[in-house]
Amino acid sequence: MTGINPLSESPVVVVGAGIIGVSTALNLQRLGRQVLLVDRHEPGEGTSFGNAGVLANSSITPVTHPKLPRQIPQMLLRPNSPLFVKWRSLIPMVPWLVRYLSHCSASETQRISTALHGLIGTSYSDHKALATGTEAERFVKSSDYTFAYTDKSPFRAEADTWKIRYAHGHRWRELNEQELRAYAPALSSDFKFGVACLGHGFITDPGEYVKALAKTAEKLGAKIKRGTVEKIICENQKVIGVRVDGETIPASAVVICSGAWSAKLVHPLGVKVPLQSERGYHIDLWSPSVTPQMPIMIAAGKFVATPMEGRLRFAGVLEFGGLNAPRSKAPLRLLERLGTAAFTGLTWQDKTEWMGHRPATSDSLPLLGSVPQAAGVWLGFGHHHIGLTAGAKTGLLLAQMVTGQTPNVDISPYAPSRFCK
Ligand SMILES: Cc1cc2nc3c(=O)[nH]c(=O)nc-3n(C[C@H](O)[C@H](O)[C@H](O)COP(=O)(O)OP(=O)(O)OC[C@H]3O[C@@H](n4cnc5c(N)ncnc54)[C@H](O)[C@@H]3O)c2cc1C
Repeated sequence: MTGINPLSESPVVVVGAGIIGVSTALNLQRLGRQVLLVDRHEPGEGTSFGNAGVLANSSITPVTHPKLPRQIPQMLLRPNSPLFVKWRSLIPMVPWLVRYLSHCSASETQRISTALHGLIGTSYSDHKALATGTEAERFVKSSDYTFAYTDKSPFRAEADTWKIRYAHGHRWRELNEQELRAYAPALSSDFKFGVACLGHGFITDPGEYVKALAKTAEKLGAKIKRGTVEKIICENQKVIGVRVDGETIPASAVVICSGAWSAKLVHPLGVKVPLQSERGYHIDLWSPSVTPQMPIMIAAGKFVATPMEGRLRFAGVLEFGGLNAPRSKAPLRLLERLGTAAFTGLTWQDKTEWMGHRPATSDSLPLLGSVPQAAGVWLGFGHHHIGLTAGAKTGLLLAQMVTGQTPNVDISPYAPSRFCK
């Protein structure tokens, strides 16, 4: 792997100003590189805007666990299921789905979990290191991450997942009804059992957090440009620039952090990545009458209730529907119905709704590293459900790689070359 020529006058162009791109840009500036950050929107307005805000360092097991294929039919038919499908969009997704489901084995779950642990196991301290001394610092909070269940049986049924977490050093405390209520006094009495995952954190406004980090990068000298990157321009298999809305911009290196939209940009570079959108939703309830002190995962609904600045956010669920189909009403209705049932006496003054695109690779691991056929092009996308959690570390690793340093974690599981055959 070669780093960029530090004497070159062209900036490193970072494509995409979500948490991954902004963290990369800020880390590159801190390592002394000139950065141009390009996004078709303002920073923090993609998927990074609307997530649940959890720094979920114990969420190392992939969705593709061994029991998933058997559970899918039941998940599609069960009332109040958190899985949604837009059937018309599903047909083009079939090749991706086949590859995705091929990872539903115990050995793959172990391999992916080990690889994700390396990236997210220290998320809270990684974000503290990224944000300390900046305006973004106030959004980073330390907390437990609590799972609420109506009874213990679903927790027991997921014993394999919890065993993997334990093996990687994650610890939790089982909570009886009273203890759970102490964590979240307004939680409905339907919830009789909880699990408090210790030593986590959360971001009290993910969109504003990314904007504040982008401002910090700007203060350090980074330039931010609004525009759509149409092409990465290479000569003799080496990057020389990017085309943004028809204009060619020279670049000494390019880092592609364009989330769920990345597959089209990297395809001409020989990277044939199976990447789909796992759509997710949130509703924000502004000025709520009650709110938990920390993120609470409502386990049966696969969504999180997170206290955010001025509001309570219910975020999660999963919809297969591609990048272009409009948002659906049913997931939003489900979030509101299950969320309001979960908190006794919850009222609010205003409500806003959102849908976003988790960047989902078929093997549940992101692509971090160089592109074999295009020197100077680096990739940082495909973080599925844990992109916020992984954002601080990912940006540091990418900045280290671009500047020719050797990261102190094993980055081989994320190598883009696995999709360049
Ligand atoms: C409902 C929901 C809840 C979630 N909860 C959590 C959570 O609690 N914790 C967690 O860790 N993760 C969570 N996630 C996942 C997390 O939000 C994502 O993994 C993360 O935001 C991905 O960040 P990103 O920077 O890769 O992508 P994005 O934030 O989507 O940024 C990509 C950017 O690239 C830009 N772009 C794309 N193409 C181009 C182009 N050609 N030219 C210019 N710009 C371009 C886009 O405009 C966008 O701003 C959740 C996701 C959802 C949907």
